[in-house]
Amino acid sequence: MAKALIIGCGAVASVAIHKCVQNFEVFDEICIASRTKSKCDALKAKLDGKTSTKISTAKLDANNVEDIVKIISSFKPDVVMNLALPYQDLTIMEACLRTKVNYLDTANYESEENPQFSYKEQWEFNDKFKAANITGLLGSGFDPGVTGVFVAHAKKHHFDIIDTIDILDCNAGDHGYPFATNFNPEINIREVTAPGMYYEAGKWIETKSMEIKRIYDFPEIGKRDMYLIHHEEMESIVKNIPEIKRIRFFMTFGESYLRHLRCLENVGMTSIEPINFQGHEIIPLQFLQAVLPDPASLGPRTKGKTNIGCIFHGTKDGKPKDYYVYNVCDHEACYKEVGSQAVAYTTGVPAMIGAMMLVTGKWNLKGVHNIEEFDPDPFMDALNKFGLTWQESFNPDKVE
Ligand code: NDP
Repeated sequence: MAKALIIGCGAVASVAIHKCVQNFEVFDEICIASRTKSKCDALKAKLDGKTSTKISTAKLDANNVEDIVKIISSFKPDVVMNLALPYQDLTIMEACLRTKVNYLDTANYESEENPQFSYKEQWEFNDKFKAANITGLLGSGFDPGVTGVFVAHAKKHHFDIIDTIDILDCNAGDHGYPFATNFNPEINIREVTAPGMYYEAGKWIETKSMEIKRIYDFPEIGKRDMYLIHHEEMESIVKNIPEIKRIRFFMTFGESYLRHLRCLENVGMTSIEPINFQGHEIIPLQFLQAVLPDPASLGPRTKGKTNIGCIFHGTKDGKPKDYYVYNVCDHEACYKEVGSQAVAYTTGVPAMIGAMMLVTGKWNLKGVHNIEEFDPDPFMDALNKFGLTWQESFNPDKVE
């Protein structure tokens, strides 16, 4: 039996909370702590009486280390699940270190002022976490998250040497809006407007944003346009699978999304440079976020499926081998189960599973680690049990 402190109460947190209370045999007590307490109270009211998990709520500004320490010290959780924003990673890690509690997140640190993301600052906690005998599990969503578990699974069960990995993230969901983002708009737009990046022959190669396009025929979805973008798990996978010769990340985008995004970029609405508007300083991207649909509101409108997975090429027993492992998730089925669309679902479920791995002691490597460093087997089993069934192919279409 374990206690989890869940920080944040947005789209992803809501799914993770639903899954923790479904998994009441592991999580007998949770505390939902977020900036807007009314959201935590509304979710508690929805779930109370439907689970034996005891739920409490708290108001928390997770930019403030002292405030996080106070909540941890009074609630005494076995794990802190950071499901707020990447901006809060370092303050929450610092609070976990001071109180000696395990930490988990789903996105690597970036500062509000600088859209460059990297694991550097979080990896710097490694020795201190090790000395405190606690674990920091970085990136326990889907991508990063399950994609790293897929890499560990491929390496453990299918390959002696992995030469190349293509991570493919397809969201074929239709929410009926001309433009909306499926998770936090500010974080999403920062990610997709950044230059693309991939790793080949020992070097990182930068591309212009959306410069490299491919078409892929996704199982259960069909042909979709996808674009090479920079994505954080590539940084840790290159470190943890040192023989790798190339890794790329592709994400699908529809024509309407890209047309709107280009237009918003061209007029300056995606900028994170503060401007003066009628005597107030505002950040255009944050203003844009305020007028876009809340991702949590897309659930009831979204139809279609997601397909996220990894295609590997390498050798096993001296012979060349291809392997594709992926999950297909249906937006409407997710909504029916937990009241959220598939992008939040595919992130919130692995967050709960990662927390379960830590509190049950199945994963007990101390220090700060990315998810592909742990034994993938119990996590792969739990994916099938908690709603993210995976499928595999040994003769997949390849990406040129
Ligand atoms: P939302 O914007 O829906 O939710 C964020 C939540 O964090 C909100 O409840 C917000 O409070 C709260 N929050 C923000 N700042 C603070 C703060 N200073 N103190 C306390 N709480 C705060 O985002 P999502 O749920 O869509 O995304 C959550 C995280 O998941 C993000 O880091 C995102 O990058 C990551 N993610 C990871 C994916 C993966 O596959 N690995 C995929 C998708 C998302 P308020 O209600 O007041 O706004």
